[in-house]
Amino acid sequence: MSYFKIIDKGDGITRLFLGGIHGKEGLSTVGALQEIGDEDVTSGKLVIHNCDESPYVSTLNHDYYQSKVGKEVLYLINHYQPKIYVEAHCYKNENYLKLTSPQRWTESKVPPLIELESGVLIGSASPLIRTSIFAKDDVCITLEMPCKPTKKSLDVYIKVLRNIAASGSRDELEKHMIDLYPNQVETAKKYAKEFFGNYPPF
Ligand SMILES: [Zn+2]
Repeated sequence: MSYFKIIDKGDGITRLFLGGIHGKEGLSTVGALQEIGDEDVTSGKLVIHNCDESPYVSTLNHDYYQSKVGKEVLYLINHYQPKIYVEAHCYKNENYLKLTSPQRWTESKVPPLIELESGVLIGSASPLIRTSIFAKDDVCITLEMPCKPTKKSLDVYIKVLRNIAASGSRDELEKHMIDLYPNQVETAKKYAKEFFGNYPPF
């Protein structure tokens, strides 16, 4: 389900929101991304892109970035050079525990995702891109909701996307997130330090 929109409010940072990262996720994420409008951005740029359906390959797997859609993702990041990067994903309910349990450290070699509320999860982008094509100061977020979300989950997901769209810097974004989800940001800080070394929470 392809969708593309650029909101340009002049001077300021560039943000990139990507949905439909793999598999059929785009069918769920497009509805949320389409809710983000011009009024959500006050400065700088927001680029929104939802990719078409593609074979499912995890972004933790090197093969992903060799695939057609993976190359599209890399192209968009290199082209727009976002200071704030968000991957909008969705998960099947049966994968909730796999994504959020401490086992993720050993099974997938990455930190667990952190629940914000109503099944909406947050984490960093894949380490394969986080530490290579992004600077430490850039914001890299993976946001997950259940595929075919309930209204409550979808509302939370959109609320978080809007807060990110409205942020003009990492500091502003962290402040928004701490106001909304103080405990989760603390956990994210801890995981980022444990996993990446001296890295900020997202
Ligand atoms: Zn995904």
